[in-house]
Amino acid sequence: MDNNNYSSHRPRRRVSRKTLRRRQLTALFIIAFLVLLLVLLVANACSDDSKQSGGKKNSSTTITTVTTTTDPAITTTAVITTTVPAEPVNNSDFVVDKLSVKLEVGETDTPYVTAYPAGTFEADERWSSGDDRIARVDSYGHITGVSPGVCYVTLRSAADPKQEVMIKVTVLGDEANTTDQNSTPQSNTAEAPAPPVYDDTPGLTYIDGILVVNKSYSVPPTFAPGLETICYTQFQKLSGAASKEGLSIWIGSGYRSYHDQEIIYENYVKSDGKEMADTYSARPGYSEHQTGLVIDCNNIDDAFGDTPEAAWLAQHAHEYGFIIRYPQGKEDITGYKYEPWHIRYVGSKVAEKMYKANQCLEEYLNIKSEYE
Ligand SMILES: [Zn+2]
Repeated sequence: MDNNNYSSHRPRRRVSRKTLRRRQLTALFIIAFLVLLLVLLVANACSDDSKQSGGKKNSSTTITTVTTTTDPAITTTAVITTTVPAEPVNNSDFVVDKLSVKLEVGETDTPYVTAYPAGTFEADERWSSGDDRIARVDSYGHITGVSPGVCYVTLRSAADPKQEVMIKVTVLGDEANTTDQNSTPQSNTAEAPAPPVYDDTPGLTYIDGILVVNKSYSVPPTFAPGLETICYTQFQKLSGAASKEGLSIWIGSGYRSYHDQEIIYENYVKSDGKEMADTYSARPGYSEHQTGLVIDCNNIDDAFGDTPEAAWLAQHAHEYGFIIRYPQGKEDITGYKYEPWHIRYVGSKVAEKMYKANQCLEEYLNIKSEYE
């Protein structure tokens, strides 16, 4: 009994202490594990947006902007590329062999397009960089690192601007610079260069180096440059600056081919008659949209003129190289009614002069705008 008692008591007490300690330890481990798990989950949710897909997890700037617009597809583009989003847009039928590129300063890499959206071809490729100070891209998609940081290069279709894909570009170097680009202000003081000149294309009219399209000057049906990269890039800067003031400016309409304009104009003539249609819609070949240097912002509607976006555009467009092409009170000179949404890229030198002189393009160049 003693032995029995001894053997039945001592081991039991020993076991129960051990068990207690084990239980305490196990409980501690479980709590520690849960805390660790929670920390990891939170950290993951905050930082690892690049692995997400579907275009919903963008940076906070982008989300705020998108909710205030009526055309999310287009606005997202304009805002994302300038604010460095947590996640790039890929809502197109373009297939590219890589969606992210890592480069040293001065190094070049090229993502290859392996499939195009229906009806578009290599000639419709339009490449642009969201931040030229970090990486440059040429018209063939050669991306070159400029300085350490992260930015996005966008490939869009000139034929269908809604077809676009963004490629994340990380330029390696100083770590402090690669982590946060949001602190770098988008400069609007840098000069916006003059647009390209096609002086070997017959049928175009350049006056003082400016391609002129109005009721007196047309472009040939074959002229089809697509939306010019410089126009798009400068628009991205413009829309990025506006978004910092809580405003949303997006591309309502960009490049239009001769044929696009033919359809639009004919429809207006059918519904309103030729005389009326001529006051607000250009005849095919006479639309400035065919130059690839024009963007209609937001909703093409007279009500746009009363929005803070329109007021901001009127005040700041010239800083990015754009002019309000058909200003209020100049209808008889431009030949068109007031269009607060229609901005034309001319480069900041010319835009600045016209803004300061309060002149429209016809006044600046001393030309007419009348159909023959
Ligand atoms: Zn327009």
